[in-house]
Amino acid sequence: MRAFTVILIYLIVGTISPIYSQTAHNNLQITSIANEGFLLTSSSKKVLIDALFTNGYGLFAAPPKNITDEIMDAKAPFDRINLYLLTHYHFDHCDPLLIKNYLTKHRNIPFVTNKPAIVFIDGSCFGFMLLKKQFTVLTPEANQSVSNTINNVPVKAFGFKHLSFYIDSINVEENMFNSSYLFEMDGIKIFHSGDIKKDALQDYLAKNNKWTDTIDVAFLYYELFESGVPDLEYILNTLHPKHIIVMHVPPSLINEWAVKIDKLKETFPDIILFKNPMESQTLNIAGLPDK
Ligand SMILES: [Zn+2]
Repeated sequence: MRAFTVILIYLIVGTISPIYSQTAHNNLQITSIANEGFLLTSSSKKVLIDALFTNGYGLFAAPPKNITDEIMDAKAPFDRINLYLLTHYHFDHCDPLLIKNYLTKHRNIPFVTNKPAIVFIDGSCFGFMLLKKQFTVLTPEANQSVSNTINNVPVKAFGFKHLSFYIDSINVEENMFNSSYLFEMDGIKIFHSGDIKKDALQDYLAKNNKWTDTIDVAFLYYELFESGVPDLEYILNTLHPKHIIVMHVPPSLINEWAVKIDKLKETFPDIILFKNPMESQTLNIAGLPDK
């Protein structure tokens, strides 16, 4: 009888628990999609960021079509998404039509981005504004932040300047609006920089004294580590992340950067570079309060 009860409880819990627990409390599963696109899974939440695009400008990694199809069809592990975040509207982060079709197909998924991205997608896809009930538009001023809680996920958007790119002494990225995000999934605080370089971080810190938010996992643009250890130490001394994910490395430089990141592990072991789509790692985040 007792064995029967144990088996019964096992069957019931085994059947029910996947609905409530996607990964253990204190764990964050990170699945690389491509470039700066990731699926993040915590014990009860799933967030997609910069995941729907097809164009790497011939330089950057783009998701294979079968992965994009799985995201669009909400096939596991891309089912039950709580939030879709977009940092900026460059094509290596954002395909307007895919995003429009995704939000149309999944009317319960909130979309968080800034106003320039909304305008760009709307200009590319007539009727995008019909989905506005799904939008949360967070458009921080330069070096400031705005916060909101969307679908039980607290989100803080930072106005960190998009990296500059000079041609003929003209910064061709002058008008590109980048948002960095700090968001919380089951108590785990995640920072995603979007496309920024060290000057953006320095500008922010010059105007806001010091960084005060806790960061458990920081997703950072690779050139923030250009100089190697000195840049890593700057990040560690300013943002104090517990884990670092290095992103946006062009495939042509991936092996070179893998060596570089391996070297940085000697200073800070919790730094990770994903090399391929659908590579996944589960991080155990220390120091979270008990549930
Ligand atoms: Zn980019």
